Amino acid sequence: MPDKKKITVAYGDGIGPEIMKATLDILDASGAQIEPEVIEIGEKVFNLGNPAGIAPSAWDSLRETQVFLKAPITTPQGGGFKSLNVTTRTTLGLYANVRPCRSYSPYVATRHNALDMVIIRENEEDLYAGIEHQQTEEVVQSLKLISRPGCEKIIRYAFEYAKAYNRKKVTCFTKDNIMKLADGLFHKTFNKIGEEYPEIEKEHMIIDIGSAILADKPETLDVVVTLNLYGDIISDIAAQIAGSVGLGGSANIGQICAMFEAIHGSAPPIAGKDIANPSGLINAAIMMLVHIGQPDVATNINNAWLRTMEDGIHTADIYRVGSSREIVGTQGFAKAVIKNLGNLPKHLKPAQFEPVKGSKLHQTTPSDPNLKKELVGVDVFLDWKEDKRDPKVLGKRLEEMNGNGLKLDMITNRGVKVYPEGKPETFATDHWRCRFVSSENAVVSHAQILDLLRRVDEARFDFIKTEHLYMFNGKKGFSSAQD
Ligand code: NAD
Repeated sequence: MPDKKKITVAYGDGIGPEIMKATLDILDASGAQIEPEVIEIGEKVFNLGNPAGIAPSAWDSLRETQVFLKAPITTPQGGGFKSLNVTTRTTLGLYANVRPCRSYSPYVATRHNALDMVIIRENEEDLYAGIEHQQTEEVVQSLKLISRPGCEKIIRYAFEYAKAYNRKKVTCFTKDNIMKLADGLFHKTFNKIGEEYPEIEKEHMIIDIGSAILADKPETLDVVVTLNLYGDIISDIAAQIAGSVGLGGSANIGQICAMFEAIHGSAPPIAGKDIANPSGLINAAIMMLVHIGQPDVATNINNAWLRTMEDGIHTADIYRVGSSREIVGTQGFAKAVIKNLGNLPKHLKPAQFEPVKGSKLHQTTPSDPNLKKELVGVDVFLDWKEDKRDPKVLGKRLEEMNGNGLKLDMITNRGVKVYPEGKPETFATDHWRCRFVSSENAVVSHAQILDLLRRVDEARFDFIKTEHLYMFNGKKGFSSAQD
């Protein structure tokens, strides 16, 4: 019998307290060796004027237990509040979001009887950094940041997961035909790390066709690994087509901490009525038990849950005349699962859990001390609305800024080249990227760039930001214009 593992528990808002009680009752009855420590998050904390929705003392508990079982919370309407989920994921370094999706046909109605996939979504990077700026009257920017260590960690996690669970294939979804650097890094890392797992089949799909296949033939997918935003979208699609968003649990895994939660929200309209389905949180708690080294208890609860589904003992959200036998409330469902502890499902594939613990997990490649990084130019972004926004006028005026080893190379507007040789049909906003490169095909210094900016400023141009152009080991570290 293992020692009791302390875990941090939050009852959350809306249906949170009911589904957490049901889940903890099952954990208790199953003999799970856990000691819950309750923290307050969500509405009550927001209402106390804490915009993060989590009290500073709660972090101490999370730091100590390193395991968080979290019920959904209600996010207040209006600005000023931060997403508690995003804060928790990034603060605790929970880089991998793991969502198993499977159909429970014929007990839960679905068009995809053979669906059994796991989506592994990068959890910390991408557009979720929330770095946004309004740069001109017409144009705002949201920065998509992708790091090599970030790609390495999530892709390795996906392969180690596939290995632990005897899954045959890992599919990588990106949009690297458009975002050649950002998504390209993810795809290249997938190819490189994939070589270390010869026994696992690998494939890559562009996210658009990948999503179409996921919606139409999900049974052809096994483990899917993808970037944060795409993963956010496709994991809800996968849960929905599996039959019910109310059944899914998710794990957020980091090197030190992990958080487990249902994929649905706090469902305020049905709160306090004892009708919510606790299955999402139960499935999350099962993943938690595997994570803390109690896979046998996890297997027992999962099989009891599968048997309860087969028995047709269903909450209202999945109750169907024909496939269901008895409608139960939240606590009634928990009691039925407890009664089935020790029973196996008769028809559905029984659960078998393995912890993901490969020796290379969380590993990243160290920085290359010999990397040659050379500055070769600068993109100067302007807010410019004069002269009927004629790019030829802007180009000629900027060419007057040439000098001290830098010359204007081109101008783009929303990524489309408008100078030299622009097309008259191209729409122009007030946001211009003006690329200056070395006139001597040489490395450029910061002093030359500062000197250029001084000339641009003296000519009364409103420069709103700059991006430096670097070569890394002789390879271009910036995109070209889309002509
Ligand atoms: P929701 O998931 O709460 O509800 C969507 C629909 O599904 C509703 O019809 C609801 O009644 C139903 N539903 C959800 N869970 C159910 C369950 N367990 N059993 C039966 N039916 C269930 O999504 P929403 O309405 O968009 O959001 C409500 C609140 O939850 C918002 O404040 C939102 O910000 C928050 N939210 C929190 C989390 C989280 O804490 N992880 C996630 C998503 C949404």
